[in-house]
Amino acid sequence: MKDQFIIRFRGVRGSYPVPGKSTLHIGGNTACVEVCVNDHRIILDAGTGIISLGEELVAEHLASGDTPLTRKPIVVTLLYSHTHNDHTQGFPFFQPAYLPITTLYVFGPTSTDNLETTLARAMISPLFPVPLRDMSATKYIRDIEGNKVILLRDGNSEPLVYNPYREQVEIPEDAVKIACLHSYGHPIKVLKYRIEWHGRSVVYATDTEGYEGGDTRLIRFARDADVLIHDAQYRMDEYTGDANGVIQQGWGHSTPDMAVTVARKANVKQLVLFHHDPRHDDPEVESMAENVRQVFPNTVAAREGLEILL
Ligand SMILES: [Zn+2]
Ligand SMILES: [Zn+2]
Repeated sequence: MKDQFIIRFRGVRGSYPVPGKSTLHIGGNTACVEVCVNDHRIILDAGTGIISLGEELVAEHLASGDTPLTRKPIVVTLLYSHTHNDHTQGFPFFQPAYLPITTLYVFGPTSTDNLETTLARAMISPLFPVPLRDMSATKYIRDIEGNKVILLRDGNSEPLVYNPYREQVEIPEDAVKIACLHSYGHPIKVLKYRIEWHGRSVVYATDTEGYEGGDTRLIRFARDADVLIHDAQYRMDEYTGDANGVIQQGWGHSTPDMAVTVARKANVKQLVLFHHDPRHDDPEVESMAENVRQVFPNTVAAREGLEILL
């Protein structure tokens, strides 16, 4: 992992998981993207895609030595875009969180309550058998705002959070920089993240609805990024309600056209359509991506197992 920048898609659905034959190619797990940058492991959202990732991390840890003291500890930076169910429902089943060897640095936006309270509430009895506080990992759970930057320095120290508009911080050459952007395009506060390292970058913009002429804040934020991961949940006829009478405008999700507008105006190199509607089977998702390729050729539909090397 040293000297590498890899994006791995673990869960690409919005709303709810859809196991089954018709979604085998794209995958049925809800939102989770793993980004490995120079020995740091960053996880974007904890939908059900995080569950198998957790199992892999535990297996890797057990294989790394003979005794608990000689094994490589598990250190993860977990970034929540927001706390809707499809972005948090996998966390109670994330096995590394039950190991005392694990350190979790968790960041996300404040909603009606702070992040820790919201995450804890999803795990209280009688909803779930194990409360958040009983998970054995060392957890640093912090609310974060849209104008902040999270700096990952060496693997052992706590990430540094600072405001680039007010504070001057010495940035080590090897540090991973994660910028946060407050998004207004969803029914609750959502954060978009831009992860940068050695001049390469990926922007994660899920659960966001487009605007006339494109989301100006996001266009600036994503300027010249290598990869833009963008919500593209609805076909236009679903968005307008022509498909089945249910108007989905205002629900906080985009059409592929909205994603393309941002990708073009921000001059990103590659667009990844993300947060697929659970009602869309494999051919439907692929045909939406094919339509987008007519106007923005370097586009793919996110699918479980897809890896992008920067
Ligand atoms: Zn969602
Ligand atoms: Zn949402």
